[in-house]
Amino acid sequence: MDKKYIKNLNNKEVEVIVNKGTEKPYTGLYNDFFNIGIYVCKACSQGLYFSSCKFDSGCGWPSFEDEIAGSVKRVSDYSLGRVRTEILCSNCNGHLGHVFKGEKYTQKNTRHCVNSISIKFIPLKKKDIKQIEHISEKYRVPKKDFFLFFNQID
Ligand SMILES: [Zn+2]
Repeated sequence: MDKKYIKNLNNKEVEVIVNKGTEKPYTGLYNDFFNIGIYVCKACSQGLYFSSCKFDSGCGWPSFEDEIAGSVKRVSDYSLGRVRTEILCSNCNGHLGHVFKGEKYTQKNTRHCVNSISIKFIPLKKKDIKQIEHISEKYRVPKKDFFLFFNQID
């Protein structure tokens, strides 16, 4: 992971985001949390997931059916003696969790299983569309993705 971002993290965050640990299930801040907004990388603030892609899988960690295009990198992880797909922030390479396919939770049939400690929730309301230039730049998310999101919310 890019060193310039590590200094922003506390020890618990380093354990997961840098050393690829996993927080205990049902303990994370965003496991049972469904407010409207965007989830950004804890380390570098890149936008990763909109709340519209979050769903309740019951698995004990925040679950998302899709990422903001280009924001998440996938790599093979053989650490448990089987292959899983690790997901990382595409900007800073911070560890997010793993992605699983074929579980049939949602139509997209994909579950990003993300550690709450790897992400930070930013609430958004329809009126925030006025700040689209600012938030697009701040969270490195294309304006067209924000427009789609704002069109979905009240
Ligand atoms: Zn990042």
